[in-house]
Amino acid sequence: MSLPPLVEPAAELSVDEVKRYSRHLIIPDVGMTGQKRLKNAKVLVVGAGGLGSPALLYLAAAGVGTLGIVDFDTVDESNLQRQIIHGVADVGKSKAESARYSIAQVNPYVNVILHTDRLDSSNVMEIFAPYDLIVDGTDNFATRYLVNDAAVLLHKPYVWGSIYRFDGQASVFWADYGPCYRCLYPEPPPPGMVPSCAEGGVLGVLCASIGSIQVNEAIKLITGIGEPLAGRLMIYDALEMTYRSVKVKKDPECAVCGKNPTVTELIDYDAFCGAVSEEAAEAVIGSTITARDLKAMQDRDDNIYLIDVREPNEYEIVSIPGATLIPKGEFLSGAALSDLPQDKQIVLHCKSGARSAEVLAVLKDAGFKDAVHVGGGVLAWVSQIDPSLPTY
Ligand code: ZN
Repeated sequence: MSLPPLVEPAAELSVDEVKRYSRHLIIPDVGMTGQKRLKNAKVLVVGAGGLGSPALLYLAAAGVGTLGIVDFDTVDESNLQRQIIHGVADVGKSKAESARYSIAQVNPYVNVILHTDRLDSSNVMEIFAPYDLIVDGTDNFATRYLVNDAAVLLHKPYVWGSIYRFDGQASVFWADYGPCYRCLYPEPPPPGMVPSCAEGGVLGVLCASIGSIQVNEAIKLITGIGEPLAGRLMIYDALEMTYRSVKVKKDPECAVCGKNPTVTELIDYDAFCGAVSEEAAEAVIGSTITARDLKAMQDRDDNIYLIDVREPNEYEIVSIPGATLIPKGEFLSGAALSDLPQDKQIVLHCKSGARSAEVLAVLKDAGFKDAVHVGGGVLAWVSQIDPSLPTY
């Protein structure tokens, strides 16, 4: 399927712009008209993180005239392994501000607009409205469904990408011409089932592979050249070094773009995707302690059994003194249950509290009624008890 150009050409390019974009101008498919379309284009990038970093730099270098950046976060040292738009001097600063600075170094002709509020149902329509195209570089399911539904309701195309460890995916979703994200993934995965990159890791350079596919598709949509990824899902395996694309059909029963949509306005996406399962949310009530509580229990020599439910490589990076490592999966399979001491109070922790909440629900179900978990996990321990330890 080929699509008409998304953007009308700008009136003209300046002499300096002609010089700057000459390698585009001599490609017949792009040419002067294509470059003028890029100049007139308004592209919004959601997230100046792993995917947003290469996407913003290449969109800027390509000559996209207006770039919006949505990011409320600040640059952390652990971002620098992949978020190449930020540098050492940017740690602690706003990601949006840092990205704007880098873009100005690459191409001063780009007009950059910052959106530093957290994207949610109350502001997404207003933020998206002035843009021709959205590039989704978000890392969580709630924002992904929010971006999708807003794009469908506004009849706008967007380029989606996702990354995890060595695997990447990308597609173009434009409900007016093909499927949307919900046609492909009607329901978010159960909370805790799909680890985030913060939990499972990501090969830094994977961001460039997928981010560059996203920019490639954005340029094609803006200029109307080639076969866009609409109706196809690109799947990249960095270990096998394979790209394959599979067809994605529009789902006539799709909740947002189908024949009888049930989602006709934006919903509560945090609730839809659930930070933790209902069971876990119930289990933690009255059974959550702070890192300081745990330290006090240890100092009093309370009769506790501290269990770290993360994975071995996470335990190796940083752990709470005295914790025994039993990964979450061993609780979900039931394998760990028979070895647990009956005469000690069980205290669970993970990285930030979500996985330990899931395990807590399993333990309570198995009769460990006085088990508790540490809210905020090992990250809270580091920030409140021992800031000399590393975080990740
Ligand atoms: Zn759909």
